[in-house]
Amino acid sequence: MDRVPMGKNRKVTKAAGMYILVKKVFIMVQFTPRLTFVKILEKNRPRAVAWVTGNDMNPQLSGLVKFYDTPYGGVLAEAEIFGLPNAAEQYATDFYAMHIHESGDCSGDFENTGGHYNPAGQPHPRHAGDLVPLLGNAGYAWAAFYDKRFSIDDIIGKAVVIHAQADDFTTQPSGGSGGKIGCGEIRAEE
Ligand SMILES: [Zn+2]
Repeated sequence: MDRVPMGKNRKVTKAAGMYILVKKVFIMVQFTPRLTFVKILEKNRPRAVAWVTGNDMNPQLSGLVKFYDTPYGGVLAEAEIFGLPNAAEQYATDFYAMHIHESGDCSGDFENTGGHYNPAGQPHPRHAGDLVPLLGNAGYAWAAFYDKRFSIDDIIGKAVVIHAQADDFTTQPSGGSGGKIGCGEIRAEE
């Protein structure tokens, strides 16, 4: 009869040990940059922003891309875009290329924005201005990413450009990503 309660005790001890292990792992996770990034997005003001608007073919497209300094160097970016071309398809998901272009001139059909920001003279997709693509979900995209290819001072006065198609990360000089459907000049926040 004694063996039954002993077995129960062992189970409790083992379970308690696992609980402690889980707590230690949780504490370790808190020291990765992730928590800092989440706090920055939640509480800090961005140091630069780009208000993105669509071209004549995509007047419904609009959104905001924010750029934040981080304690690790590099830039934390957050993009929220509405009205991408798949907005009318209820369950559609499509990728749209997003790049920083040399010029912040978003006039006309964005034909004056120049090429991808590329201070190091690298091939695409190693341009400093090559950003992560957007995933449009029935027209809506949200993305946050960390980027050490440029500083915020480097990109003020340039443009965030959204393209009609996915970036194939191969074709030169711009990844075969089609026309420019959205554009926003990157401006310093006062
Ligand atoms: Zn590029």
